[in-house]
Amino acid sequence: MAEVIDGKSVAEDVVQKVKALTLELSAKGATRPGLAVVIVGEDPASQVYVASKSRTAKECGFHSLQHTLPAETTEAELLKTIGDLNADPSVHGILVQLPLPGHIDAGKVIQTIAPEKDVDGFHFINVGKLGTGELETAFVPCTPAGSMLLIERVRGKDLSGLNAVVVGRSNIVGKPMANLLLAANCTVTIAHSRTKDLPALARTADILVAAVGRPEMVKGDWVKPGATVIDVGINRIPAPEKGEGKSRLVGDVAYAEAAKAAGAITPVPGGVGPMTIAMLMANTVASAYLAAGLKRPSF
Ligand code: NAP
Repeated sequence: MAEVIDGKSVAEDVVQKVKALTLELSAKGATRPGLAVVIVGEDPASQVYVASKSRTAKECGFHSLQHTLPAETTEAELLKTIGDLNADPSVHGILVQLPLPGHIDAGKVIQTIAPEKDVDGFHFINVGKLGTGELETAFVPCTPAGSMLLIERVRGKDLSGLNAVVVGRSNIVGKPMANLLLAANCTVTIAHSRTKDLPALARTADILVAAVGRPEMVKGDWVKPGATVIDVGINRIPAPEKGEGKSRLVGDVAYAEAAKAAGAITPVPGGVGPMTIAMLMANTVASAYLAAGLKRPSF
């Protein structure tokens, strides 16, 4: 059976390191890291995510700001809020919770965030830096950055000679994940909904990352024996066995089957999920170090 990669524990290590870095920063007489989270409207899932991000920011010792704006906020008003946060020296990270209401152009909002405060890593400048290997100053999107840390725990930092297959080509997960694997010297293939014979392609992977959004799509016989399997998917499916109307979370990988072939595998929940918020904290503390003219800490 595969080694189970414990994302909860790795995420906790990251948060502990962020706390220590925050204390070190104040010991140096420099600024306290500041994270501003902006949410527009009342989407219940977004409210839960934002509350969790703000809670972890406080736990890390950050100056944590939350801007909760009404659903009818205009695009101009939101852009003004972002502009104010860009100009505020006590803020090192700005995160706009997506999705935004339909009357607001999310792309425009993201590109208005100052690249050096874009701790989500969605600004074109950060996307370009990752694409060109400028990893010293790039902010990398949190979910792939966290997935990469999990891979490093199993395989080390240099992945030379390994084949990686990333299933999914979203800007938030698939593409940045592929770029990170490439920067670590993997031979990378990106698969998507138009890929032919995905099971055969997946079987070539020493590192297989599933970021699709389809419950348990990746089957056990898609997994090369000994492969490292990273399941980014979070899917809620009905679970009548738990009672009427109940549900449970599953990933994009059929875990029980895949764990028989894999060398190491992330569970859902408790794998990639907890890494996302932890890496947001890591990016924010890194931004504060850079703003203070100090060397960027690594994780
Ligand atoms: P997305 O934007 O919907 O992208 C899904 C990708 O999967 C697309 O590139 C799509 O291909 C591809 N795809 C869809 N059906 C496929 C199929 N049958 N065969 C092969 N490829 C297929 O999703 P996302 O934002 O990347 O998220 C992916 C999953 O990760 C979701 O379950 C999401 O909930 C989860 N997620 C988790 C975290 C976390 O914190 N753990 C964070 C973000 C996302 P095309 O491009 O050809 O359409």
